[in-house]
Amino acid sequence: MIEFFNVNKVYPNGNVGIRNMNLTINDGECTVFIGPSGSGKTTALKMINRLENTSSGEIRIFDKNILDYRINELRWDMGYVLQQVALFPHMNVEENISIVPELKKWKKGKIDSRTDELLDMVGLNPKEYRKRRPSELSGGEAQRIGIVRALAADPKFILMDEPFSALDPVTRTGLQNDIKKLQEKIHKTVVFVTHDIDEAFFLGDKICIIKVGELVQCGTREDLTDNPVNNFVREFISLGIKSSHEKTIKNIVNRGFFEEIPLEHQNAAYNPEDVTVTLNISDNINNLFRILEQKEYVVIADERKRKIIIRRSHIFSYLREDGDADG
Ligand code: ADP
Ligand code: MG
Repeated sequence: MIEFFNVNKVYPNGNVGIRNMNLTINDGECTVFIGPSGSGKTTALKMINRLENTSSGEIRIFDKNILDYRINELRWDMGYVLQQVALFPHMNVEENISIVPELKKWKKGKIDSRTDELLDMVGLNPKEYRKRRPSELSGGEAQRIGIVRALAADPKFILMDEPFSALDPVTRTGLQNDIKKLQEKIHKTVVFVTHDIDEAFFLGDKICIIKVGELVQCGTREDLTDNPVNNFVREFISLGIKSSHEKTIKNIVNRGFFEEIPLEHQNAAYNPEDVTVTLNISDNINNLFRILEQKEYVVIADERKRKIIIRRSHIFSYLREDGDADG
């Protein structure tokens, strides 16, 4: 358990990072910090592993002031994942992953089996990836290795600062799924920073909304949508939800990225295995991404209940065109 008691952070130049923050982060839960840019999310996170000191107030972990821990002991027990993972370029994947286990003086055999286990968990074949250099990884793969490295020495806590925000939507949703599944399996105490409300709602057991250094409201998804404490929370959430509604599958279909299913196949199940993943055309696009991470294509029911298909290749073309349109 991590607790904030009246925590303030003022930077030497007078910038206020955090004002009077009181918060309990429960064991085994994913707590999300969400708020606009500059609201203090990173500051709050960095105070937990003492990359920044508090100006006043106290942070306690398992009821002991973090200043009373030896700093290495504290940091080794906290996996840290950043927006852009800083893998050491001259070390291969397995060397990058074993840094903290080696500092903790784990035996070679234990490090090896832990590395294999974790690579498998994030869907990277150990045989294929152990010896690769960071330069031989895609952005999504490097981010997965960053997560594995953070988990390697079996830390009690994992701090993640916008870990997926630099990735394309397909990779991002894939990793969000991985983290969610991983979390259901290993129940770490996770503190996750994002500015994306969809991501916050998908991953967070508890979601803390921060505005210019102040914790405005902390609660479950239902607490925040049903009982927002003020207009800021109400608007912040409805804006996030509105923008995700605009990200519908309909946009993709309207732009021609789909495949017709011939009339004679319309009534019979097109492919019995895929019947369970029929989506509605007005569904959130993220649901589509989540399914396409596992499957090659999805069957969609359009407005007239006619069935069509969206394949992964359609999504890639759609994203490519979107990128071109943005310049
Ligand atoms: P967020 O992560 O929510 O975008 P930050 O925690 O990075 O916000 O920043 C919160 C506030 O603290 C901002 O006003 C920012 O400019 C300021 N700040 C962050 N780091 C420093 C620093 N090292 N020195 C001075 N001000 C800083
Ligand atoms: Mg930040």
